[in-house]
Amino acid sequence: MKTNSEIIGEYLDLLFPNPRCELIYHNDYELLMAIVLSAQTTDKRVNSVTPILFSRYSSLNALKNADLADLEGILRPIGSFRKKALYLKEIATILNDQYGGVVPTDRDVLSTFPGVGRKTINVFLSEFYHVPAIGVDTHVERISKRLKLASSKDDVLKVEKKLMKKFPKEDWGKRHLQFVLFGRYYCKAIKPECLNCKLINICSEKKKNIRS
Ligand code: SF4
Repeated sequence: MKTNSEIIGEYLDLLFPNPRCELIYHNDYELLMAIVLSAQTTDKRVNSVTPILFSRYSSLNALKNADLADLEGILRPIGSFRKKALYLKEIATILNDQYGGVVPTDRDVLSTFPGVGRKTINVFLSEFYHVPAIGVDTHVERISKRLKLASSKDDVLKVEKKLMKKFPKEDWGKRHLQFVLFGRYYCKAIKPECLNCKLINICSEKKKNIRS
């Protein structure tokens, strides 16, 4: 008999056989910065500002010396733009001055960067270096709880640890992307697509959503 995580994994493989990160980037620092910018907003919005950002400031040195007000103006559509503009300038300065322009892969080092937390590190390492990791963003947390892979009271770290136990290590990166896409297009926060969902029998939300 299959476990729930096996059933979930098979369904996600069916829906998203080749999941891809939807953030647009061309190198390591553009990816790291795009993930930082994606906090509290959508990848689509981030993708609407990063082409302007990285063409106007086409190197770490240019970003380090960018005019803060101009950066804020570019980032305005994504929200928290003052804070995010500062983060980008500071990250560019650190990478340019201390790391030869290369984003370090050491988690302890990365966690000292402004605006960079555990989720950002996991997403970056998994996407750029294929390091096995599960970044728990709002979609991953919501789906894990709805599908009873985690408890409703778990914080994001607990959710991450539980997911790491329930899925094979070689699938962590793929599962992260699939959970994000499933949350973005099917199991949305409001009005999820429950009637067509093959996971309805193992989901804690089904009754609520089907009645509404
Ligand atoms: S039944 Fe609805 S809430 Fe549950 S996993 Fe499927 S889409 Fe999400």
